[in-house]
Amino acid sequence: MRGTPAVAVLRLGHRPGRDERTTAHVGLTARALGADRVVLAGEAASRRDTIEDITDRFGGPFRVETTDEPMAVLEAWEGTVVHLTMYGLPVQEAMADVRAAFEDGTELLVVVGAGKVPFEVYERADWNLAVTNQPHSEIAALAVFLDRLFEGRELDRDWEDAERAVVPRETGKQVEES
Ligand code: SAM
Repeated sequence: MRGTPAVAVLRLGHRPGRDERTTAHVGLTARALGADRVVLAGEAASRRDTIEDITDRFGGPFRVETTDEPMAVLEAWEGTVVHLTMYGLPVQEAMADVRAAFEDGTELLVVVGAGKVPFEVYERADWNLAVTNQPHSEIAALAVFLDRLFEGRELDRDWEDAERAVVPRETGKQVEES
């Protein structure tokens, strides 16, 4: 998001057939809630076009990248790494420290999984954080984390180069085309 250090979301462990919508929604949630890019690992790359299509129509900036070597991305990452997992520490207890690191200008990589996440991710992460210690969804965990990171400012951001914009209405649907 403009005016803040960069935030990337790394999507690990896409299972073809089962995770198609979930991976697309990880990307769309990252975009809508203030991340600058999503990195789709391995088979998750199949969802690239869906996410880019939304960015083309509804605006950016937002980038989609792919990698066959997600562990190399993690190892090479020079900034902060947050891994979202139900086994982690409560997000509400760590968030002040995460925000302090972020506001110092450190680029942030947020890792979300699908199936089993390699133990090396837990070890590399600066924070393994849980949004409750209950099992739920990478989409929900990512949404809560980003909203807490930006403290709600992402809800008011502007979008650039949008072909269409929704006009908020109490009832009905209104979309402006440019
Ligand atoms: N055993 C997994 C775990 O470590 O959280 C649950 C698998 S869940 C189907 C897929 C992904 O959702 C996880 O890799 C994690 O990123 C995210 N996730 C699920 N529940 C979470 C929670 N309570 N807090 C944070 N992330 C969660």
